[in-house]
Amino acid sequence: MKYKKNKPRIAIVGLTSCEGCQFVILDQGKRFLDLLKEVQVDEFRLIEDDPEPASGYDICFIEGNPITKANIKLLQEMRKRSKFLIALGNCAALGGVWELKNYQDKNKTIRQVYKKTKVENPDIKEVDNFVKVDLTIPGCPINGDEFMELVWQLLKGRLPQIPQKPVCDECQKLGYECLLQKGEICLGPITLGGCKAVCLKSKQACWGCRGSFEGAQIENLMKYLLKEFPREKVYHVMEVFGARDSILKKLDIDTTPKKATKKVNTKK
Ligand code: SF4
Ligand code: SF4
Ligand code: SF4
Repeated sequence: MKYKKNKPRIAIVGLTSCEGCQFVILDQGKRFLDLLKEVQVDEFRLIEDDPEPASGYDICFIEGNPITKANIKLLQEMRKRSKFLIALGNCAALGGVWELKNYQDKNKTIRQVYKKTKVENPDIKEVDNFVKVDLTIPGCPINGDEFMELVWQLLKGRLPQIPQKPVCDECQKLGYECLLQKGEICLGPITLGGCKAVCLKSKQACWGCRGSFEGAQIENLMKYLLKEFPREKVYHVMEVFGARDSILKKLDIDTTPKKATKKVNTKK
């Protein structure tokens, strides 16, 4: 394999996460090796035990949540050193499955796990609460095809646009049965497409891991869901991938855990 000199530098950094999105990148196989011919990849601990930091990066991908003080410091440093900072995956963008704990009784959950040991239990916060994010690559995990396409566009020096279409678009084009019409809670109508409606392929409703798209008719879907299903059930589905606070924020509802009480008018 021939490597070029003075290649653009890319950092792939995991904060607190399951590392699943980083594994998607490795999983690209030949496509990842082709990328390595064109760029210098640094700080990617899945391929290097002791990564050596560079003074500056063209692109930095951040996966996971900034939970610990060390996570937050690293995130802020990477922002200073990077031209583009990209939130990689649902944890970085929306808080991820870990955000479920924000909506529980914090003392009760910590006692269940740690019994009498005292540990910190900070709320989960998305990356953009700490630094400016230039682009989000959505999903839990990210979609490999979409990642590769976006990286090549970023390497041309421009911020790509992800087509703003709902999951329903792909779901219906692929001929899947509509679970919402069958009486299940499905967030497909307000969730950003691009995942090939993979959950619907397995007859699992969309729980919004890619977040909502620009122009999504959130209020309309919420009115419908809250008319058809108990509020706790709707909120619980929205909590699984950390989408609840960002969805409710768009409706101007207080998203503080335990205080999301402003009711959406469900009258037509
Ligand atoms: S978004 Fe999902 S796959 Fe990616 S790091 Fe978070 S939990 Fe893992
Ligand atoms: S199943 Fe969900 S994603 Fe598919 S069309 Fe129905 S509402 Fe949309
Ligand atoms: S269908 Fe919904 S929950 Fe499933 S991968 Fe796509 S956006 Fe995520």
